[in-house]
Amino acid sequence: MARLELSNLHAEVAEGDEKILEGVDLEVESGEIHALMGPNGSGKSTTAKVIAGHPAYEVTEGEVLLHLEDEEFGEDIEIDEDQRTWDLLDLEPNERAALGIFLGFQYPAEIEGVTMTNFLRTALNAKIEEREELFEEEEGEEAEEEDEGFESSPMEGPADEGEVGVAEFQQILQEKMEQLDMDEKFAQRYLNAGFSGGEKKQNEVLQAAILEPSIAVLDEIDSGLDIDRLQDVSEGINALRDEQGTGILQITHYQRILDYVEPDHVHVMLDGQIAKSGGPELAEKLEDKGYDWVREDVYGTA
Ligand code: ADP
Ligand code: MG
Ligand code: MG
Repeated sequence: MARLELSNLHAEVAEGDEKILEGVDLEVESGEIHALMGPNGSGKSTTAKVIAGHPAYEVTEGEVLLHLEDEEFGEDIEIDEDQRTWDLLDLEPNERAALGIFLGFQYPAEIEGVTMTNFLRTALNAKIEEREELFEEEEGEEAEEEDEGFESSPMEGPADEGEVGVAEFQQILQEKMEQLDMDEKFAQRYLNAGFSGGEKKQNEVLQAAILEPSIAVLDEIDSGLDIDRLQDVSEGINALRDEQGTGILQITHYQRILDYVEPDHVHVMLDGQIAKSGGPELAEKLEDKGYDWVREDVYGTA
């Protein structure tokens, strides 16, 4: 069981003093789906980026804590009581990721000769390695380089100890792609080369499925998707929750995806704060009436 807890979170632009978040309180637990809605410019993406540790923002007040129970650490890691709660603001983005925080990946530039398969395996192994370092699991044993007798790029090299090797990864990938109803050829394509908007979103869900995060933050994963692709992506998100128990913070401007990914909780962000929270009925009301009534409700004026 994992629980991400934002309390009284204030953040501003790192280079400057423009305040963006002004006291965000939010808790997301394993197995829960939270929809974070709100008008443009209300601070949704900033919330996501602050959780992930984006350097463009400076936290000026409040906390971002991650509580993890034993099973989140994997069988081979014994953990002290006091390590079960992590202050994410003290950690680098890759350390947060290693603890199971996933923010839909910002697309790296097209990298020549790197297939999706290699990219994803590299991402998974980077997470495993970072996690081991975080828990100081290296017991001085240098991973033995096994020579498997073929020349390969660093990304295709033989697996170090603890790493997921090429063959094992192929199996994981195949299974996840089947789950997501993705075309097998997809994995052989080069990173970012000519992916459509919908394919990028599908990729994001695939990456989450492979990294098995405890908490996934998906920022407008529904934008620009046609209905078929929206359904595929939604099924992928539901599978993250149902099969891995991932807690999901689903940021969306529109109610549409919530027909397919039914949230347990809906939050409306206004001017850098969560102005209102409720159940799925809140999203429906927003669809009908827009955001102005929330503003009226909260401030007594639109
Ligand atoms: P949302 O995702 O809800 O549309 P954002 O979190 O992207 O909103 O932005 C909230 C506000 O903060 C907006 O007014 C935006 O212009 C401003 N903002 C966000 N990031 C930056 C930045 N790096 N530099 C300057 N202003 C920013
Ligand atoms: Mg500043
Ligand atoms: Mg945004």
